[in-house]
Amino acid sequence: MNLEFTDEEIAFRNMVRAWMKENVSDDLRSVTARGDMTSKDQQQRWEKQLGDKGWLALTWPEQYGGPGWTATQRYIFDLERAMAGAPPTSPFGVSMVGPVIYTFGSEAQKQRWLPGIVKGDTLWCQGYSEPNAGSDLASLKTRAERKDDHYLVNGQKIWTTQAHWADMIFCLVRTDSTVKQQQGISFLLIDMKTPGIEVRPIYTIDGHHHLNEVYFSDVQVPLENLVGTEGMGWTIAKFLLTHERTTIAGVADSHHAMARLKEALHAAPRFAVPAQARRRIAELEIELMALEYTNFRTVAATDEGRPFGPESSGLKIKGTELQQKLSQTMVELGGLMSLVWDSEEPVGSDQFNNSPRRYNFLRASTIYGGSNEIQKNVLAKMLLGL
Ligand SMILES: Cc1cc2nc3c(=O)[nH]c(=O)nc-3n(C[C@H](O)[C@H](O)[C@H](O)COP(=O)(O)OP(=O)(O)OC[C@H]3O[C@@H](n4cnc5c(N)ncnc54)[C@H](O)[C@@H]3O)c2cc1C
Repeated sequence: MNLEFTDEEIAFRNMVRAWMKENVSDDLRSVTARGDMTSKDQQQRWEKQLGDKGWLALTWPEQYGGPGWTATQRYIFDLERAMAGAPPTSPFGVSMVGPVIYTFGSEAQKQRWLPGIVKGDTLWCQGYSEPNAGSDLASLKTRAERKDDHYLVNGQKIWTTQAHWADMIFCLVRTDSTVKQQQGISFLLIDMKTPGIEVRPIYTIDGHHHLNEVYFSDVQVPLENLVGTEGMGWTIAKFLLTHERTTIAGVADSHHAMARLKEALHAAPRFAVPAQARRRIAELEIELMALEYTNFRTVAATDEGRPFGPESSGLKIKGTELQQKLSQTMVELGGLMSLVWDSEEPVGSDQFNNSPRRYNFLRASTIYGGSNEIQKNVLAKMLLGL
């Protein structure tokens, strides 16, 4: 594996860096510098900016609106994006349902849905988990009965990120209860404005509203919104989850968090920072480098057309553990300043004041996208044959 960038890649990096400098707005930089959550308006504005430039659906084939970049270029772009203080894009459209639609969808579905995703015009959310179906996703119970020209959907989804923002939800639904669990699942695209859908908020420990419960009562969904064939939902779900796990690792954003941690360290008076804190940051930097190398393996494999399998679970485990450690170290470094919550005026550094929110929210990172215990089961199966 060659770790040097070519001259063309360095030119590409400079071009992306210059664009980010011009185009990432101050309000976005300030939100990410505090490690806070973007508003719907900020997120959509940023995604539309990227969509207009043709830089939103980075992994997509060019025929559907992808920029035609190599995996190395995508890696460079993501790092420049994060270091410029821009937020990651919402994964549900570009990283999840988009690839599903161009891989499994009909021509009509591609034409109907892909342009809205590639331009950042349509917001999506993911309707997989249910109250009794998280890790054991195949036991999901939301039913879709086939009627004349539509499916009738009844049931409940939970932990649905951004359902209160979304125009569309992609759902795993049960279309057949008489066959083996996995074989009776199908994949439906549902308009969030359809009568019978109710979205109820779930407020998380960081004080924000990211999550929701979504209830379906006699919701009519046109038959043409089924992706693939009936019973194919499990195959599609597995395809999508591999995509989800590599993006959740968030390596580029951990570089940004590390940079903020170092800024904070340098801003504090020397005598106030114990040697232990410096040592801790050095240890985390080594972990980040190790994660980066695993990431490079997936980048190199993708560029060379080689498949990768267990790496996505490994990246998810180590990437989310590192996110947690970085946020914890920021809280510890802030000391008393990290106890400030909802102050109108920052006390000391703004990023310390906000750090407990991020710390608290990131406790969930080892749960969402398939919990880390489940990823360890996947690794044991793939690598050890257990
Ligand atoms: C912040 C956040 C955002 C989310 N966003 C979405 C979303 O947008 N859409 C969506 O569909 N879902 C979403 N989820 C749901 C997420 O995918 C589930 O929480 C996750 O899959 C775990 O399922 P569960 O919560 O039902 O926990 P459970 O499956 O009940 O697990 C409970 C505990 O038992 C462990 N466990 C379970 N089975 C095993 C096993 N076989 N071996 C070892 N340990 C096991 C788990 O690791 C966990 O620690 C989100 C969750 C969070 C926290």
